[in-house]
Amino acid sequence: MLGIIGAMDEEIDAIKKEMQEIEEINIKNVIFYKGKIEGKEIVLVLCGIGKVNAAIHTTLLINNFDIRKIVVTGVAGGIDPELEIGDFVISKDLIQHDVDATAFGSKLGEIPRMKTSTFLANQEMIKISKEILDEEFPNKNNKVGRILSGDQFIASSEKLEMLVKIFKGDCVEMEGAAVAQVCYILGTDFVVLRLISDKANSEAKIDFSNFIREAVSDFTIYIKKLIKRI
Ligand code: SAH
Repeated sequence: MLGIIGAMDEEIDAIKKEMQEIEEINIKNVIFYKGKIEGKEIVLVLCGIGKVNAAIHTTLLINNFDIRKIVVTGVAGGIDPELEIGDFVISKDLIQHDVDATAFGSKLGEIPRMKTSTFLANQEMIKISKEILDEEFPNKNNKVGRILSGDQFIASSEKLEMLVKIFKGDCVEMEGAAVAQVCYILGTDFVVLRLISDKANSEAKIDFSNFIREAVSDFTIYIKKLIKRI
């Protein structure tokens, strides 16, 4: 079964509307929406904002349902200057930019005592996602790239510069790398798809608020195609 995770209502509501035979399953006060899209079973969950929320919801999802693959959909701040608002980034890999154990000689973003801190998305899911986006949104820049996550809304040029220099990220958000870390530990395939809502600069708050309402229909188009192909 495919698990779908979104951080905000705006991100999951449009997908929920496409579901048939919806069953609401309450586990530890978290509501999971189990149902069908295009005849295939999925489980959808709203995880809330930030890495801890993302990690706990991903763990509950994997632990309580027969989940083979996970897709995270949502918005993000663009870092690569070639990405415009409305473009997509498909995760090649993900790093938590706010992990800092540099006092011990670790690099920024490196989680001490783990084999890796750069979590790779599933190759097949990346390939299919890229094909779908290029077919459905041929006029957009659909980039396979690096997604950075941290418990910070990035809205300043200085921070942005740091994320480019140190991590060579393509976009920044607040959940993806936490889902990725859980999937790495529990051995679940995943991909993160982000729609650029802002450019993580001083205009980010305004761009984000204007964009979030209209963005959601693109996710539905993608999910309906993805379900057919995986
Ligand atoms: N008060 C706002 C907070 C949104 S936080 C609200 O409740 O609407 C931003 C969300 O969008 C997070 O889920 C994050 O993953 C994503 N995001 C979009 N642009 C971002 C940016 N510039 N920096 C960090 N996260 C961003």
